[in-house]
Amino acid sequence: METKGNISIHAQNIMPVIKRWLYSDKDIFIREMVSNGCDAVTKYKMLQGETGEDLRVTVTVDKAAGELRFTDNGIGMTAEEVEKYINQVAFSSAEEFLKNYTGDDKGGIIGHFGLGFYSAFMAADKVTIDTLSWQEGAEPVLWESEDGMAFSMRTGGRKQRGTTITLHIFEEEKEFLDGYRVRQVLDRYCGYMAVPIYLETIGEEPPKEEDHVTGTEEEEKKEAEKPINDTHPLWLKNPKECTEEEYKETYRKLFHTFEEPLFWVHLNVDYPFNLKGILYFPRIKKDFGGQEGEIKLFNRQVFVADNIKEVIPEFLMLLKGVIDCPDLPLNVSRSFLQNDGYVKKLSAHITKKVADKLNGLFNTERKQYETYWDDIHPFVKYGCVRDQKFYDMVKDSLLLKTSAGEYLTLPEYKARNEGKTESKIYYTTEASRQAAAVALYTSRGIDVAVMDTLIDMNFMSFMEFGSGNKDIQFVRVDADVSGLTEESDEGKDIDQAQMEALFRDALNDQELTVKIEALADRGLPVMLTEEEQVRRYKEMSAIYGQDFAFPSKYTLVLNRLCPTVRALAAMEDQDTAKLLCKQLFDLARLSSRPLEAEDLKDFIARSNQLVAKLAEKA
Ligand code: ADP
Ligand code: MG
Repeated sequence: METKGNISIHAQNIMPVIKRWLYSDKDIFIREMVSNGCDAVTKYKMLQGETGEDLRVTVTVDKAAGELRFTDNGIGMTAEEVEKYINQVAFSSAEEFLKNYTGDDKGGIIGHFGLGFYSAFMAADKVTIDTLSWQEGAEPVLWESEDGMAFSMRTGGRKQRGTTITLHIFEEEKEFLDGYRVRQVLDRYCGYMAVPIYLETIGEEPPKEEDHVTGTEEEEKKEAEKPINDTHPLWLKNPKECTEEEYKETYRKLFHTFEEPLFWVHLNVDYPFNLKGILYFPRIKKDFGGQEGEIKLFNRQVFVADNIKEVIPEFLMLLKGVIDCPDLPLNVSRSFLQNDGYVKKLSAHITKKVADKLNGLFNTERKQYETYWDDIHPFVKYGCVRDQKFYDMVKDSLLLKTSAGEYLTLPEYKARNEGKTESKIYYTTEASRQAAAVALYTSRGIDVAVMDTLIDMNFMSFMEFGSGNKDIQFVRVDADVSGLTEESDEGKDIDQAQMEALFRDALNDQELTVKIEALADRGLPVMLTEEEQVRRYKEMSAIYGQDFAFPSKYTLVLNRLCPTVRALAAMEDQDTAKLLCKQLFDLARLSSRPLEAEDLKDFIARSNQLVAKLAEKA
């Protein structure tokens, strides 16, 4: 024996799930009611064409009655349709409607799952539908339910085509009877919907936008007559028809700011997927650690969420903007998005567009691009580190800023410093503190790159070991002296072991390493260097908060071309020699970092002693 049938769902069981799980943000029930109203209007327009009627959705806050009402003059519903689409959960009319619709503009309908309506019960202890279908001879319908499970339905008294959904708000959700709160929710979710939306408050002044400057009474009335939304968002327009001012205005409106973006990318794809949007490059503060961008995700002009990491490549989260993508489901879980091949393609496309923009600016407006670099470089570098594909796309547009304020590409740096640097790239992490060491290089005509943001350390390691480049090596100005030496026999006879013993003794440090080199700058007696990789490792572990303090390992480099060093090597008077050793060591330390309290005191006392000696002799 065989039986066939349809699995049935008990509303009693599914309703709590819808209420709690499907929608994590309570306020989205407003979005759902308004988008149903918009759909009803859109459908009416699709069926009737342009009728010259004033089609709209009105949200009414009626505090005294404890109600929120959503009224539209769209297609309405017949009793049959209420039976079908309302009384059956998870049954949307969208699919059927589009199947029967023969026109060619199929894009505008928001509804999809047939679940949105039931979100009303997240905030209401009674919901009524008062509706009259656009169809000839249709009877008005009045539907009522207190819990979304049991309902009553009878002939209503409505005379105008359209629908009013009334939500009697329950005690705990009273905030939604406040006009300002409702305005806030509407701005967030409905600010760009395609049908004009009006907000009406009964027994309360209609709320305005926060930064609205109140004018005369006359003006205020007009203001309330304006829809709360912009039905033609800029991102849906053809980029060719958008002006610079419009882009800036949209930026200010979206992010409630007076700041100006640096530049932007207009995403406008129809195929192979539908993606519209504008990504803005904001001014980025120097240490971008705490900085967060903001990308608003829309679905057919309906706001869905902020910063959906699964859709936007993580490094683009520093940007600001909107993405409108009708093919992304409104209410799916994030783990689903993560594994979705479609989402991956979207994200790859966005990455490519951003890279194209950067390359375009670099290639055609190099000077302008350089002025942006200070703001955008953390983002670009971060992108390279995070996404090898992005690096491959933008690698020719990467710049190094030099201590002289010039901007060079890597090949330009190499070409300019050819033969002087053994193809190393010299850099400073703090141009002011390391000024002395920087000057040693710049005075020899060697460019020093400024790498002073948090991301730079990661970026340099990536360039050296992760990018597939074989010949890139970053060296801090105090890491070695290979760029500062010259061929010469002067002072070759100075004994390294003897000098090391002298300094170890004077400084009371038996670990100290001393090396003798021929540095071209004859006025420079000593320099302290710290091996690049050791220093980086130490800095990294400090950043990641490791308890173990990595010991510093410095090398004291003595310049045999400097007369002071030669005099020291030949000195008979051991007391003076030790005094000089200490002084030279402090001078070397000073050129990369300030001296600590005790050391500074000693240094000053010793300096006074030396000055006195000099005065005695004169
Ligand atoms: P969806 O919008 O995803 O289709 P909903 O649960 O929001 O699902 O709504 C279910 C159905 O109820 C809609 O498809 C539509 O047919 C009908 N409906 C809801 N609100 C209205 C309205 N204001 N005017 C006309 N029909 C409506
Ligand atoms: Mg809906």
